Amino acid sequence: MKTQVAIVGGGPSGLLLAQLLHTRGIESVVLERKTKDYVLGRIRAGVLERGLVALLEEAGCADRLHAEGIVHDGTLMSYGDEMFRIDFTEHTGTPVVVYGQTEVTRDLYEAREAAGAQTLFNVEDVVIHGADTDAPHVTFAIDGETHRIDCDFVAGCDGFHGVSRQTIPLEVRREYEKVYPFGWLGILSRTPPVNHELIYANSPRGFALCSMRNENLSRYYIQCSLSDKPEDWTDDAFWQELKRRIPADQANALVTGPSIEKSIAPLRSFVTEPMRWGRLFLCGDAAHIVPPTGAKGLNTAASDVHYLYNGLRDWYENGSAEGVDLYSELALARVWKAERFSWWFSSLMHRYPDQSEFDLKMQVAEIEFLRTNAAAQKAMAENYVGLPY
Ligand SMILES: Cc1cc2nc3c(=O)[nH]c(=O)nc-3n(C[C@H](O)[C@H](O)[C@H](O)COP(=O)(O)OP(=O)(O)OC[C@H]3O[C@@H](n4cnc5c(N)ncnc54)[C@H](O)[C@@H]3O)c2cc1C
Repeated sequence: MKTQVAIVGGGPSGLLLAQLLHTRGIESVVLERKTKDYVLGRIRAGVLERGLVALLEEAGCADRLHAEGIVHDGTLMSYGDEMFRIDFTEHTGTPVVVYGQTEVTRDLYEAREAAGAQTLFNVEDVVIHGADTDAPHVTFAIDGETHRIDCDFVAGCDGFHGVSRQTIPLEVRREYEKVYPFGWLGILSRTPPVNHELIYANSPRGFALCSMRNENLSRYYIQCSLSDKPEDWTDDAFWQELKRRIPADQANALVTGPSIEKSIAPLRSFVTEPMRWGRLFLCGDAAHIVPPTGAKGLNTAASDVHYLYNGLRDWYENGSAEGVDLYSELALARVWKAERFSWWFSSLMHRYPDQSEFDLKMQVAEIEFLRTNAAAQKAMAENYVGLPY
């Protein structure tokens, strides 16, 4: 097989890049390790920044997003029974859109299928060869049979556990990591959201987040111990704990119901540098991870796609290598800002096992400052709706 861009990973980064390239007549093949149903079943992000919405529009995949996505002009934050609001539109002129990652991925797969573009599922043993030459190729197996794709470029969009990052030699790669001493226990339930906006809650019992996917599908999280397992938590125990962490009036309004998904995610900040090695480019979770506080994971993946897409357009449409040469530098400059915001917001809202009385006072003072200071709210809002590309 031969293509212009071989894309390893059929998650949101790989699919969005493929679809954007398709709109410019640039050919790609997407290699996905799992089945399509498996990818579509992964419940993950749900808040889209303006930049991602614009990319989906450019890819021709935003009709359902505009019809069904819920525009949020602000968010609520609480500590104990105190609750206040940060108004995104007032501070930045821009809202965010609540629309599940599962739906983004579904729309991208449908567009790809409608265009007759190639996605190969159940691929195994992906190996990227010659990334530091002008003629890379990728080998992989399907049903035990080995295949080869020759290409101009390889986009490594295969998430944190993929092979692309490992292809970059250790002496070239530098990794930065922070692991947080807690996880998030999340449930999805077919119940109306407790509030029409998200609530980020700091409570003496730990963090909680009230979120949603649509008007009858809610996503709730509570900070939990790293040793907890989803099966340790009955639905009832989850709801009781959530109610203790959010303001009493919200707890009283909370509609509970059976969970339709329950999982625990560890929290991690991670960045690998550089994001390019020869003709291999890392995109999204393959290059960086953020804790989900602040909803930056999917959105930062999208900003990588933006830089790579424009670099490849420059290459194919103008014969210029400038965009691909600048890819790692441009992407990383924005990645680190998203890392900083996610780290800051996580530090502000969670209870840490080793937190001293002084640390707690600092946390409350900072939340109070945010509650009462317009400049602090503007800085928070600008980061939340997404810094410009
Ligand atoms: C449990 C969980 C909850 C999350 N919640 C949130 C949230 O609430 N808000 C938020 O903003 N972000 C959240 N995120 C982060 C967000 O989902 C990711 O940032 C986003 O999925 C990144 O997209 P991606 O395409 O780069 O990577 P992925 O979505 O990981 O996609 C990578 C794809 O590559 C495939 N793949 C892996 N290895 C190979 C291989 N060797 N060969 C071929 N294919 C391969 C995988 O099967 C996968 O389909 C969450 C992440 C996780 C794991």
